[in-house]
Amino acid sequence: MALSEFSLIDRYFKPLGVARDTLRGVELGIGDDCALLSLPPGQQLAVSIDTLVEGSHFLPQITATQLADRAFAACVSDLAAMGAEPRWLTLALTLADINEPWLAEFSDALARQLRAFDMLLVGGDTTKGPVLTLSLQVHGWVPEGQALRRDGARPGDYVFVTGTLGDAMAGLEHLQHHHDPDPYLLSRFFHPTPRISTGIALRPHASAAADISDGLLADIGHIIECSSTPEQPLGVVIQPQHLPLSEELRRHFSAKQAQQWALAGGEDFELCFTVPESQLEALQQTLTRHPIPCTQVGRVVAEAGCWLEQANGQRQRTDNLGFKHF
Ligand code: ADP
Ligand code: MG
Repeated sequence: MALSEFSLIDRYFKPLGVARDTLRGVELGIGDDCALLSLPPGQQLAVSIDTLVEGSHFLPQITATQLADRAFAACVSDLAAMGAEPRWLTLALTLADINEPWLAEFSDALARQLRAFDMLLVGGDTTKGPVLTLSLQVHGWVPEGQALRRDGARPGDYVFVTGTLGDAMAGLEHLQHHHDPDPYLLSRFFHPTPRISTGIALRPHASAAADISDGLLADIGHIIECSSTPEQPLGVVIQPQHLPLSEELRRHFSAKQAQQWALAGGEDFELCFTVPESQLEALQQTLTRHPIPCTQVGRVVAEAGCWLEQANGQRQRTDNLGFKHF
């Protein structure tokens, strides 16, 4: 190896953290056996980890910036879905070889993302292995008892989504099959935006929330599953005509294809959430001051199942629950 493990960490990762930053809860940053972190009084720690393996989750031709942005968005989006505020990142990196230009670009991209979300890198692990593998663990905080969990939906709750759906899959399709891919759709695939401020704004209003990584049907399905009890089975009715679709998605693809991706495409990293009728007005009030559009796309019902409801009220049962990992 041209560069020792330690000088690699010193050069590319240590600068993304701090030795000490009491305002952000870092008593001891990168360099010791552990980081020492403090939560402000009244806050709970929210933790999530995501792993990306070359060949399984991304193709070798992805750039270091695209990889850093997607990996970062995917895991920070989990904090958004909990209504948590991002704070610390740990990074486990397995490298097949030491490519300094790649490491420099990756570290720059990660530094930009960390700055954008006021986060600090506080530790990690660097190893050599057969394929490039990245595990990003995010740590955030959320006031005790205010996290947006998946298990709080009730019959009659309204189902909402943030932003527009289906763009990431459309971007991937363009990347693979077009010589002149649409830049907006591509950026939605490569540089998704975790909806942190929306998650925080939703704390008082939403009964449940999840981020849309596997597709709306799959992820609202997780909320329904977690919120159902033997005494109170739940289901969901989605109105496809209300799905928020970007102008770019509608311009490049048929209505049928756009709807299919919006329902089951995944990778958009928008949020889906449920809101009790009693909170609708307060939510609307909050949203008038909020920059990210939220659209009502369905209702939670007191019968297990998932239905698509057409504009004429006709319901059709669906068992398409999006992407399955295994
Ligand atoms: P140990 O052998 O005790 O686990 P390491 O040699 O793996 O320590 O790491 C030394 C220090 O560098 C630790 O503080 C660790 O958290 C940090 N570190 C290692 N790799 C990374 C990385 N990729 N990103 C950020 N910090 C890292
Ligand atoms: Mg180690």
